[in-house]
Amino acid sequence: MPLKSLKEVAKALAEKPSTLQYPEERDPLTDNYRGIHKLDMNTCISCAACFRICPNQTITMVDVDTDKGIKKMPEVNVERCLFCMLCEEVCPPKCLVLTKNYDTERYDRREYILRPEDLE
Ligand code: SF4
Ligand code: SF4
Repeated sequence: MPLKSLKEVAKALAEKPSTLQYPEERDPLTDNYRGIHKLDMNTCISCAACFRICPNQTITMVDVDTDKGIKKMPEVNVERCLFCMLCEEVCPPKCLVLTKNYDTERYDRREYILRPEDLE
């Protein structure tokens, strides 16, 4: 092997790896990164504004058994989400927000459907 190639190999070995050991290691996210939703079930007023504004039929209003009886709250199918943030923008009490959680890998497609309790 020519000397030049050996130098290149030695240089590459000394460099920091370009890949990360996900999920233990993670790159920092940008300030405007949009990930999986978070819902505060205590302040949701069941207005369904998030459901109506969603451009990709990602949200379904489902029954939730609360201390005050059955309430309708948003269920999110993350697989369909465009992360456009419209649902967060229209939510009157600001109880539905997009977080920086990007752990969207699932082994079963049904696990993409997150009930209100899963979004807390
Ligand atoms: S971020 Fe956009 S696509 Fe996703 S649930 Fe909200 S409105 Fe729908
Ligand atoms: S999450 Fe917000 S917009 Fe959606 S039903 Fe609850 S209060 Fe209304």
